[in-house]
Amino acid sequence: MSLAGRRALVTGSTSGIGLAIARALVAEGAEVVLSGFGGADAIAALCEELGAQHVAADLSRRDGVEALMAGAGPIDVLVNNAGMQFVAPVEEFPVEKWDQIIALNLTAAFDACRLAIPHMKAAGWGRIINTASAHSLTASPYKSAYVAAKHGLAGLTKTLALELATFKITANCISPGYVWTPLVENQIPGTMEARGLTREQVINDVLLQRQPTKQFVQPEDVGAMAAFLCSDAAAQITGANMSMDGGWTAE
Ligand code: NAD
Repeated sequence: MSLAGRRALVTGSTSGIGLAIARALVAEGAEVVLSGFGGADAIAALCEELGAQHVAADLSRRDGVEALMAGAGPIDVLVNNAGMQFVAPVEEFPVEKWDQIIALNLTAAFDACRLAIPHMKAAGWGRIINTASAHSLTASPYKSAYVAAKHGLAGLTKTLALELATFKITANCISPGYVWTPLVENQIPGTMEARGLTREQVINDVLLQRQPTKQFVQPEDVGAMAAFLCSDAAAQITGANMSMDGGWTAE
């Protein structure tokens, strides 16, 4: 197993894509630190399933990220995955939602990286994987904060790749299209309201309309990509933005 002896932190790993990534890294032998919100019983069950530690923190706050990194200890694989979405026209976009999305989807990744990198440099090996999005490469209406944060995350990733290139530390984005997780499910009401559509119209005419394959990406597929990016075969992949979007950004 390629990750035996490596310690991985996956943010936002109590649900959806982050949980699938955590499972994939554990399957490769990594020791995993989970982070994210959820009920105490559900989190305890995940920790038992994965032999993992969970560190609770609100990553939309800088002191939350600092507490997470202190609680997690030295990290060899950092997966910045926690994220949130909010859908509204720019002129109606709640300013507190803008601040929260930029803080969680972008600034938390910067803070986690700056705190994780000294150990990776000392260890002479590291992997940084940022869950970006097709929205790191292209835009959709009503998602101003999310699109801005994900484009920023893609830029941060490229900068990290250049700064870390000679330290055997890679930094890459994985950019899924629509993956059926609570994050997608929860944006349906806002999209229905913003566009005046039914639930079925949002799923078929807005979400899957963007994906030429007309299928949702599976969380497990993203987990497999993360595991590959941690492998020796991926040592020369750095600064890349790995699209997994059913052809969305090929158009
Ligand atoms: P999800 O809602 O299922 O999971 C989000 C995770 O982040 C959960 O573990 C949650 O507890 C955690 N989280 C939320 N707010 C937090 C906070 N303030 N502090 C700490 N943790 C917090 O979402 P998902 O779909 O699995 O999304 C994961 C990542 O993938 C996000 O960055 C998202 O932008 C990205 N993404 C999702 C899709 C998709 O279609 N689902 C597509 C592209 C990119």
